[in-house]
Amino acid sequence: MDRSVIVTGGSKGIGKGIARVFASKGAKVLLVARDLKQAEAAAAEIRSRNGSAIAMAADVSSEKDCAKMAEAAVERYGGIDIVCCNAGIFPAAKLEDMNAADWDEVLDVNLKGTFLTVKACLPELKARGRGRIVVTSSITGPITGYPGWSHYAASKAGQLGFIRTAAIELAPYNITVNAVLPGNILTEGVEALGPEYIARMRSAIPMRRLGSVEDVAYAALFLASDEAGFISGQTIVVDGGQVLPESHMALEDL
Ligand code: NAP
Repeated sequence: MDRSVIVTGGSKGIGKGIARVFASKGAKVLLVARDLKQAEAAAAEIRSRNGSAIAMAADVSSEKDCAKMAEAAVERYGGIDIVCCNAGIFPAAKLEDMNAADWDEVLDVNLKGTFLTVKACLPELKARGRGRIVVTSSITGPITGYPGWSHYAASKAGQLGFIRTAAIELAPYNITVNAVLPGNILTEGVEALGPEYIARMRSAIPMRRLGSVEDVAYAALFLASDEAGFISGQTIVVDGGQVLPESHMALEDL
């Protein structure tokens, strides 16, 4: 895969997994996160496995930072073929405790950040005459709900509204826009939610394990492939069957 790829939120978790898998297939990857040290460490790890990766600090909720990110990819890799809009945050707050600033922070990073990332990369994707945009949404919002995450769920459902219209607008340029919808994936961010959360989630998943970052990365890799060129505005759920049971009873006999 001789492609130039931007992965936002590439320093940790799912984004780092996406960057690692794409680089293992020959892609040149620009990893983006706010914490430069962590992003550089992730890029160095990829280079140590003979992959091609560089890192930069950018906040996807900043239009200026997104412009710099696109410029860096052009400067270092000569253009942009694939954009993985993966950066996201998931702080929890029940509605009664949530204030407008909590809401804005989550929507700014997860939803506006997706728009700003796509917008900044669009001229380069168009210039290539083909392009792939892969958004990391979630089952939470598009399919399920979870107490404490009404802002997060709204942001993740909003991403799907965004991709459906973007897919139509960008189709004439041969650019596809799709999303992966992870269930519970074992990442640094999910580990921070604690062992009790992880154990409860495991019990709700028919496959009886949390997903790996590679589980999500390979779905993203498919959507970014040449072979997926006629798929746009669509989603792939990567959740070990978590959204399937009608109730806990459906899992008790397993
Ligand atoms: P994570 O381990 O917490 O990693 C998040 C990544 O995003 C980090 O690289 C972080 O780096 C970066 N990031 C956060 N805010 C940013 C900003 N404003 N600008 C640029 N980068 C930013 O999270 P994860 O679990 O891998 O989740 C990644 C994505 O998958 C998110 O969109 C999340 O909603 C989605 N997702 C995850 C799960 C799951 O179970 N893990 C399930 C469904 C969906 P910095 O903090 O240094 O910026």
